[in-house]
Amino acid sequence: MKKLIAGNWKMNGSRSGNADLLQAIVAGLPVGVCDVVVCPPALYVADVIQAVQGSAILVGSQDVSAAEKGAFTGELSAAMLHEHGVRFAIVGHSERRQFHGESDAMVGAKAQAALAKGVTPIVCVGETLEQREAGQTQAVVKRQLAAAIHAVGHCVSEIVVAYEPVWAIGTGQTATPEQAQEVHAVLRAQLRAATETADAVRIVYGGSMNAANAASLLAQPDIDGGLIGGASLKAADFLSIIQAAS
Ligand code: PEP
Repeated sequence: MKKLIAGNWKMNGSRSGNADLLQAIVAGLPVGVCDVVVCPPALYVADVIQAVQGSAILVGSQDVSAAEKGAFTGELSAAMLHEHGVRFAIVGHSERRQFHGESDAMVGAKAQAALAKGVTPIVCVGETLEQREAGQTQAVVKRQLAAAIHAVGHCVSEIVVAYEPVWAIGTGQTATPEQAQEVHAVLRAQLRAATETADAVRIVYGGSMNAANAASLLAQPDIDGGLIGGASLKAADFLSIIQAAS
């Protein structure tokens, strides 16, 4: 299956900085590229859509509301995102779970709301260091994925799953390819129990993936791409990861 490399810019960038970054990425994209998505802060989505026009790059959002419309100050609906050309939405990133108190049920509702409007949710799951050390990794990620599977029902084959161990995000401490593959295999088995087309669901890895470690992670049988934070802000590094996945 075609791999997916998604860059999560988080709350970084500026109009001129984004333009420079995108120009360099578009210019350096390899031929026969894997699927590539960039997820800028929402305010820059329209600029970014324009900057990547004519290239293979798609645009994603870092979040989406679970609600359709109405009194939800500060939120953006899936319909609004889709209207602007956004085709992916990260849901349940650990920073949203941690700093915004998003529950498994809320993340599932966001995934469902995105799918309903033609936006592909990238559903993030992952354990904290404390949970890993307590031997709870599999139970945690299975619980998180189960909530999303329950919410999206028969559309489960249309989601992307991102395994992002919280202890590896932004820390420079990457899961080894074996550690990541072990969890991806658990998630694959869980998807297989939910849908006959589980093998077509992309399960991407996130957590300090960079130009140096991408190839060995992406070589694992159940690692179908990457969700990249820090390294997606440097054109050369992001392009190296794309190259490794293409
Ligand atoms: C992320 O935020 O999804 C992420 C994986 O960040 P980093 O690559 O910086 O660890």
